[in-house]
Amino acid sequence: MFTKTLRKLTLLNSAVVMLIFLTFGATLYSYVSSQLFNNIDNAMEERISSFRVVNGRPDINRRRSIFFDPRVIMLLRDPNGQVVILTPFASEDGENLKALAAQLESGSLTVKTYADHIYRVLCLPYQYDENVLFRPDGSKLEIQEVIAVSIVDSEVSMLRHLLIIIASGLFAGILVIGLAGYYLARLALVPIQTAWDRQQQFVADASHELRTPLAVVKTNAELMLRHPEKTVEQESARVTNVLREAIRMNKLVSTLLTLARADANQLELQLKSVVVNEVVETVVEQFRPLVELKGLELNVSIEPQIELTADRERLHQLLVILLDNALKYTVPPGKITLTCSKLQNQVVLKVEDTGCGILPEDLPRVFGRFFRGDKARHRETGGAGLGLSIAQWIVEKHGGKIRAESTPNVGTQFYITLPVKNKV
Ligand code: ADP
Repeated sequence: MFTKTLRKLTLLNSAVVMLIFLTFGATLYSYVSSQLFNNIDNAMEERISSFRVVNGRPDINRRRSIFFDPRVIMLLRDPNGQVVILTPFASEDGENLKALAAQLESGSLTVKTYADHIYRVLCLPYQYDENVLFRPDGSKLEIQEVIAVSIVDSEVSMLRHLLIIIASGLFAGILVIGLAGYYLARLALVPIQTAWDRQQQFVADASHELRTPLAVVKTNAELMLRHPEKTVEQESARVTNVLREAIRMNKLVSTLLTLARADANQLELQLKSVVVNEVVETVVEQFRPLVELKGLELNVSIEPQIELTADRERLHQLLVILLDNALKYTVPPGKITLTCSKLQNQVVLKVEDTGCGILPEDLPRVFGRFFRGDKARHRETGGAGLGLSIAQWIVEKHGGKIRAESTPNVGTQFYITLPVKNKV
């Protein structure tokens, strides 16, 4: 069902993981490279700026540091482009450096490859007035440029290795990145798939539930049309059937709407301070005649004046659902007991009956949508198996808990705990 989405999400996730990897690699590379070359560049600049000549000799006082970086080699070039001074004088690479320096243009920092070596070079004009030095034989030595050179073979090779490691890490990691992307996509789709499956099941069950009353309405209407000469009185049984099924559909549709809105988080509680006794009494008043009519006994025990922050209508609905079930599934001379007490910061409600009970294997499923213990047996009771789902939603929306205990042929107990205080 979600194959296309899974593929797209996998690609997207892989791209994101790849991007993170690339950003990390690029940052690492540029950090290492700047760390490596910044030191050398600073050392070269320092050497050049210190290369000041006073009275024909280098001005030692101008040096910022007496310890120069030994990696930097200095060259002085005359107006003919010839290197006239090289320090240290016995530089191993002396001849290569002189040849390289002869080709350099004055300007900013450059990187040159010459005779199998890589050089970082800074060639700047010799800016001082007294740009004249004297050779030991007393002849004049004019200086045009000062050049600082550093051999960076090892640094460049290290950077190349780092680049290879990052690139091979990336290529070797493509499979892992793809798997990570797929795993993340699967993970992201799990709740969507579950919600989708639930929704599909919900729609299928709802259609199924609506099909039966609709069929009854249709059949009865068709049968009535076969005998248009008959009066309403003569057809009253069929009209009653149609009406009963219409009422049933109406109830079912409004229940479905409640659940759909609850799923979409569109149902908000109208929280107020509620006195539990008052709500319970209203519901009990409603039920007492029905209970008596069925030949059952109803016992109510409530601690007086329990106050609760709750939605009064929903609390009423919750009690109706539980008492209605107790009434439906208990046969005479059965007993229904409703108790309510306060325990620390919680209100504990218990609805107990001595009815048919719930099978142990059914107990974990009773709060599921459209679940009915024994579908055939309960068909005539009129329930669609949605009552307890709504009850659970009401309790959980109030921050409470609901659970059921039951023994077949002995009875059932529903326990509800609701926090006294809810955020209004
Ligand atoms: P229904 O409308 O079918 O009563 P509910 O969601 O309220 O739907 O209940 C789901 C199922 O749980 C019922 O069909 C019934 O099998 C079982 N059940 C609920 N309450 C009781 C009870 N008090 N005694 C026995 N079985 C119950």
